[in-house]
Amino acid sequence: MNKKEIPYKIYLEEKEMPSKWYNVRADMKTKPAPLLNPATLQPMTAKELGTVFCDELVRQELDDVNPYIDIPQEILDFYKMYRPSPLVRAYCLEKKLQTPAKIYYKFEGNNTSGSHKLNSAIAQAYYAKKQGLKGVTTETGAGQWGTALSMACSYFDLDCKVFMVKVSYEQKPFRREVMRTYGASVTPSPSTTTQVGQRILAEHPGTTGSLGCAISEAVEAAASDDGYRYVLGSVLNQVLLHQSVIGLEAKAALDKYGIIPDMIIGCAGGGSNLGGLISPFMGEKIRGERDYHFVAVEPASCPSFTRGRFAYDFCDTGRVCPLAKMYTLGSGFIPSSNHAGGLRYHGMSSTLSQLYDDGLMEARSVEQTAVFEAAEQFARVEGILPAPESAHAIRVAIDEALKCKETGEEKTILFGLTGTGYFDMVAYEKYNNGEMTDYIPTDAELEKGFAGLPKVEK
Ligand SMILES: *Cc1c(COP(=O)(O)O)cnc(C)c1O
Repeated sequence: MNKKEIPYKIYLEEKEMPSKWYNVRADMKTKPAPLLNPATLQPMTAKELGTVFCDELVRQELDDVNPYIDIPQEILDFYKMYRPSPLVRAYCLEKKLQTPAKIYYKFEGNNTSGSHKLNSAIAQAYYAKKQGLKGVTTETGAGQWGTALSMACSYFDLDCKVFMVKVSYEQKPFRREVMRTYGASVTPSPSTTTQVGQRILAEHPGTTGSLGCAISEAVEAAASDDGYRYVLGSVLNQVLLHQSVIGLEAKAALDKYGIIPDMIIGCAGGGSNLGGLISPFMGEKIRGERDYHFVAVEPASCPSFTRGRFAYDFCDTGRVCPLAKMYTLGSGFIPSSNHAGGLRYHGMSSTLSQLYDDGLMEARSVEQTAVFEAAEQFARVEGILPAPESAHAIRVAIDEALKCKETGEEKTILFGLTGTGYFDMVAYEKYNNGEMTDYIPTDAELEKGFAGLPKVEK
């Protein structure tokens, strides 16, 4: 191969940016299982989904056929403000580790929301606006999604109602204020503003909330006002589709220099960044054009891939959402309270779940002290203070690079650096104070979550 000098950062020119999203479902041999109506257990129709989601997003959600979907010009224009995101050769990390491995990361933290979530937020806000809606509702946990959506909604002049998990609302006032600065209304969840919130508060007085509970409230708030629809920042097929911009850009940048990654690593919460990063590469693998080793990394305290069941489950605590077939710990599962690293959703994207079940991808779980160790090591040599979520991927990238040091293999490793960790300093503080502990749920604890799975014969 003609060995060009690889720069620290590989940027794409504006004209090289992708103009279409890639829909990996079109190439999948086994399609992800459809969402089911929780009352009838029949696949959700477009009409039923249209009461919750915007029409165009419903079409994207149900599209298993078209491999490429045009990115509307308005969204491309917004992308150009903060994209293309850099693909960085981690020369400094490689040197520090003294590894023969070549490490690259795709950095998505270079926007005010601090994560990849803006890639889908802007698309979802655009389609809501185009449909003539007044606004959207959503939930947010740690706050990255709420922040991204607030930014997107203010750009298109849409109303944005965010239900924020109460414990985060109280512990992360800065995230809350960023959202309010962008004009969003932020309600701590569970709240008394919805019926499902009232029910959950009556059943669990004093609860500090959960993502599943905030989802139920946001869905109810959208369903009870025709000018609003609900939007979700992860898990759904449409979100993975929008996030494919990460993988398409990464691939275009690598192609420019003839670089072929052996391993592609990403953290997995609901699966959107990982799905987006690997999609175009996975397409090649499914079509038999090239082989890659994909690794999903999740917290040992919330191990949906590595210890979950592949089954239909509720997406939310209040059980108002459609059922999704996914790797899940059960909708009642709540990670141990000492868990500080994000990625705490009980389920995993149906698309990724199917790819994993088909043996096309590996999953690993890592403990949080090891994750923060990797975060610190990375921050000190590469300059970027990573989000704890992203540090899950860093952990495995470092582990793999260290293996190469032993074997002398010159593997090319690509990982997704999904965001920055400036709003996660309470977690970093715990780590710096030596107060961070690891918790791995026992089988008996996981059984409790599985016991709440709905009985669906599919
Ligand atoms: C939300 C988030 C994640 C996890 O979500 P996915 O849908 O699994 O990608 C990872 N990293 C950051 C920085 C996030 O904000």
